[in-house]
Amino acid sequence: MNAPATHAQVERPADVARAEDLVSLELIRTLVGFDTTSRDSNLALIEWVRRHLTGLGIESTLTFDDDGRKANLFATLPARDGNATHGGIVLSGHTDVVPVDGQPWDTNPFEVAVKDGRLYGRGVTDMKSFSAVGLSFIPAFLRRGLAKPLHFALSYDEEVGCIGVRRLIADIVARGIAPAGCIVGEPTGMETVVAHKGKKGWRCRVRGFEAHSSLTPLGVNAVQIACEIVAYIARRAREFRDAGRQDGAYDVPYTTVHVGVIHGGTALNIVPRDCTFDFEIRHLPFDDPDAFFADVRAFAATFVPAMHAVNPDTWIEFDHLSTLPGFDTQDGSQITSLAHACNGTHDVGKVSFGTEAALFHGAAIPTVICGPGHIAQAHQPNEWVTIDQVAKCEAFMRRLVEHVGA
Ligand SMILES: [Zn+2]
Repeated sequence: MNAPATHAQVERPADVARAEDLVSLELIRTLVGFDTTSRDSNLALIEWVRRHLTGLGIESTLTFDDDGRKANLFATLPARDGNATHGGIVLSGHTDVVPVDGQPWDTNPFEVAVKDGRLYGRGVTDMKSFSAVGLSFIPAFLRRGLAKPLHFALSYDEEVGCIGVRRLIADIVARGIAPAGCIVGEPTGMETVVAHKGKKGWRCRVRGFEAHSSLTPLGVNAVQIACEIVAYIARRAREFRDAGRQDGAYDVPYTTVHVGVIHGGTALNIVPRDCTFDFEIRHLPFDDPDAFFADVRAFAATFVPAMHAVNPDTWIEFDHLSTLPGFDTQDGSQITSLAHACNGTHDVGKVSFGTEAALFHGAAIPTVICGPGHIAQAHQPNEWVTIDQVAKCEAFMRRLVEHVGA
């Protein structure tokens, strides 16, 4: 990465951005056209990008999941002096999208619709537009020539726990590729985001004992015990909100906990034997997710003696579901300065949603998040991004061409 220089480029005012002015529109259409819902293969998209890059003279490295059904793609534009491994930056995006099942879409989600200054389609915000903009500027990067290498990373299975990118990062580390920074293009409204919360999720399984519902004292009601634990988690959520430490730089300035799924019982006239629920914490750096979990576990344990008094085969167990660390790139780092130079502001933000940024950061690659669109439109039916946001991302990339070529 190079120190940002000043530039005197005149941009078209963003409020008159039109779809036909976008250089990336065709590529956005192409990427959205591949249904890459996380449960399905992303290989058609990856193969298309690989061929596209081959056509531009760029080799790609693919890393696959265990079944070979999904792949990450990593491609490098070497620097002028042939350096392909040392320094430079990564532009990173995930290829998968969340399902459209059951969502009331007005248009075909896998075909970009242009309407009223917006692009509609699954993934236009989260996050195929960023990837498409990056790819569409490759000819400009090649024309300009690079002082340091520039890398493109496309991952699989981000939406189900940032799974794919872990292999991609392990592979680049193993190959001795050491980028000086990374930009993850998740939707931030093109603001520079330097931190996000960590996240940890668990499943609680309560095994009760069935009885006819007229004989409740002879049964152990798994639903009711689970609900006591859920109520405890809700109380802890209020405590984090009202009495916990806060960081006003985050959109939600305190640690949040929540229960997202619950299943239990089979019929009203049966004391339910089983109930399971899933819960998570999204924590600020100074709140310990494991301490919270230990508290939930200890609270749950208080029910067990009474359960065992009715039937010894009852229990409460917990499974760990997922962990995504938080990250915080120090303001003033090179990657932050570069992002500022490219988007023309000096604001930094912190967000509550998790991204692959934490994993790059954890591999000693300083990372910021900066991409078009807003998280509020992600995962929604009729997902949209404004043309203005895509134009801002293109302006960002245009400036990046100057900075990495300097
Ligand atoms: Zn995303």
